[in-house]
Amino acid sequence: MAKKNIKRIAVLTSGGDAPGMNAAVRAVVRASVFNSIECFAVYKGFQGLINNEVKLINARGVNNIINRGGTVLKSARCMEFKSKNGRLKAFNNLKAKKIDALIIIGGDGSFTGGMIFQSEFNFPVLGIPGTIDNDIFGTSHAIGYDTALNTVVDAIDKIRDTAISHNRLFFVEVMGRDAGHIALNTGIGAGAEEILIPEENMGIQRLLQSLKNSEKSGKSSSIVVVAEGDKTGDNVFELASYVEKNMPHYEVKVSVLGHMQRGGKPSCFDRVLASRMGVFAVETLLLGKSNLMVGIDHDKLILSPLKTAVKSKSEINKDLIRISDILST
Ligand code: ADP
Repeated sequence: MAKKNIKRIAVLTSGGDAPGMNAAVRAVVRASVFNSIECFAVYKGFQGLINNEVKLINARGVNNIINRGGTVLKSARCMEFKSKNGRLKAFNNLKAKKIDALIIIGGDGSFTGGMIFQSEFNFPVLGIPGTIDNDIFGTSHAIGYDTALNTVVDAIDKIRDTAISHNRLFFVEVMGRDAGHIALNTGIGAGAEEILIPEENMGIQRLLQSLKNSEKSGKSSSIVVVAEGDKTGDNVFELASYVEKNMPHYEVKVSVLGHMQRGGKPSCFDRVLASRMGVFAVETLLLGKSNLMVGIDHDKLILSPLKTAVKSKSEINKDLIRISDILST
């Protein structure tokens, strides 16, 4: 493999944390050592780059992290990186350590910062998608998404136990401000009655009608999965209270799953994905390519420009809506 003068790379995690980020860090570090290049760990995302929290890390420095949720490198939201002065400090710190390239594990915000950084300083940047929302164009799966799906399905299964013991109708809010991937997949996986997502507004009257039809057909309890960004009601509580007024014999409950969706041990799928992406990211930089994001498509690793990853929208699989409608009969 031709090495285009890349001798030292740095890796950081940025934005929202996601299970599997540690497996990606481990893969980047170990692939660097394997290729005889030095790897530097940056702590606290772009903030750590600006504050010079950058340390050389060896293969042993990433022992026993493949199974851990969150990110051992820590993450941060960093306003200072949005200013040219902040980015200049970051660049000077990298230059002082003779670091040649930067791998960013994060979401589209982090990639936007990375893209600007590369164009400003002609500094090679490579992105690895890590976000439970899976809302990044250029990869069928982002690191953390599969784990989050399993966490949510597990939680809804538990809610179902209590729902069927009473005549309860549960509204379960899951993450997804802009994208319904988590709601749609976990709704099907957990056998929800209805799935409400930002991409499709079914309207409150149709929701009510559907729940009434289910009741007529003999269902005594139901689960509705609602993505955070759904617009059917002002929020999940307002939606639930509207339905309760119109279906008074049901006991309507709301469960907001919240941040537990981000945590936990990464699934095997996420560990393998992160391992593959980490190695591929290092190999890509060594080939002299940058300003790209690694992704996966039909089990093949692919590359796309960071610009496309940031600008294009990852679409939901609309066929899942049809499947859900059929199966909630
Ligand atoms: P995510 O990467 O998960 O989408 P954020 O949107 O919070 O998370 O972005 C993470 C960080 O990326 C921000 O805190 C900021 O430091 C950096 N960033 C985001 N947008 C920009 C931008 N337009 N210019 C420079 N840096 C940015």
